[in-house]
Amino acid sequence: MPIYVYQCSRCDVRTEVFERRLNSGRTVQCEACASPDVERVFMPFAIYRSEATKLEQLDPKYYRKVDEAMRNTPEADPMRHLNRMTPFDRAADPGDPIRF
Ligand SMILES: [Zn+2]
Repeated sequence: MPIYVYQCSRCDVRTEVFERRLNSGRTVQCEACASPDVERVFMPFAIYRSEATKLEQLDPKYYRKVDEAMRNTPEADPMRHLNRMTPFDRAADPGDPIRF
């Protein structure tokens, strides 16, 4: 029961397909963009890994690199949305007062 790997000609995403029989004649679509324009990639062997397994097997260095890269982006600033707001006393129409 082989697993075949197909590469999408449109978006380059690889799709793994589990086949019960050799050359089943089944039509394969890209799992990312659903394009039928895929070509089989010959691999020495393919190991099926779930997304959870792939995450478990990620090198811990990867998480540190992502954290370091994110730390210096504008999105990391928790005040970023407040800084873009207009204070009530400068707003053209502050809206109805809020009753608590
Ligand atoms: Zn695709």
